[in-house]
Amino acid sequence: LHRFALEGKMRGALARGEFSILYQPQFDVRTSSVSGMEALLRWENPELGTVTPEEFIPIAEETGMIVELGEWVLRNACAQAKVWRDGNLPPVRMAVNVSGHQFVMKEFPQLVATIIQESGIDPAMLELEITESVVMKDEVWAENALLELKKIGVSLAIDDFGTGYSSLGRLRNFAVDRLKIDRSFVTRLIDCDDDRAIAQAIISMSRSLKINVTAEGVENFPQLAFLLENECQEAQGFLFSRALSPSDAQKLLARAAALGEEPTRTARLRSLIG
Ligand code: C2E
Ligand code: MG
Ligand code: MG
Repeated sequence: LHRFALEGKMRGALARGEFSILYQPQFDVRTSSVSGMEALLRWENPELGTVTPEEFIPIAEETGMIVELGEWVLRNACAQAKVWRDGNLPPVRMAVNVSGHQFVMKEFPQLVATIIQESGIDPAMLELEITESVVMKDEVWAENALLELKKIGVSLAIDDFGTGYSSLGRLRNFAVDRLKIDRSFVTRLIDCDDDRAIAQAIISMSRSLKINVTAEGVENFPQLAFLLENECQEAQGFLFSRALSPSDAQKLLARAAALGEEPTRTARLRSLIG
């Protein structure tokens, strides 16, 4: 019943302005600088209140509404990136999540190209995050879809890496730029030997294959220390910042721009995130 209610309320919600986008910063942990922003969709309904993406994304996918929603996110995130760029803020990557339902559409690469052109951003600023299970589903076909997107000049990340069924041998055939280590491994880094081993393996494999690597869901200093020790370049998580409103994200970028020559990595990080 709840699902049914959500589905009904989701119809027309975009037109009613109930959706918004928050931006979660991604950090380069070696330099303590902001390297990207991930656009995360939010739904606030007058009767339902806040509905989490875990709840509404699967429904949007089932009903096909994700196609329209995803296009909206892409267009808005690119427009936001352009505003920040024009405001002389540090140029950071804009990461946008792409649903499998969008990724399988023949017209998707063309749509991405059109939106980039309309927004006037450099294609290299945009990173599309695609979940591992989607990318690996039909490998030959996915390989071509990724190549089509690469031709546009965008960068590609495999999201939630480690949870799908990657054929590691094939990874080198894929034109991906980044692996995002799934939060579940990062969460148990400190108290589970197996998860630590998996995270370590993903980091060192990325290094050998010259693919960038980001740890998702970093919440505490021991996790960060592990990442630094293992030379994981980037991290994202509540330790650094939650997803921010566009204006708070902009303030963070402004602080990053104003950051002087802080003596240490920790000092830099502190002046960035407080
Ligand atoms: P994701 O792409 O893996 O995004 C990361 C999720 O982890 C976000 O949740 C973020 O708020 C959360 N997170 C980040 N750091 C931490 C942390 O330190 N601890 C914990 N516990 N959580 C953290 P969110 O915003 O609820 O999004 C959930 C998922 O919904 C996303 O996972 C993504 O798969 C999907 N999603 C969100 N926006 C979009 C969108 O525009 N399009 C599509 N297709 N999917 C989206
Ligand atoms: Mg993501
Ligand atoms: Mg993820």
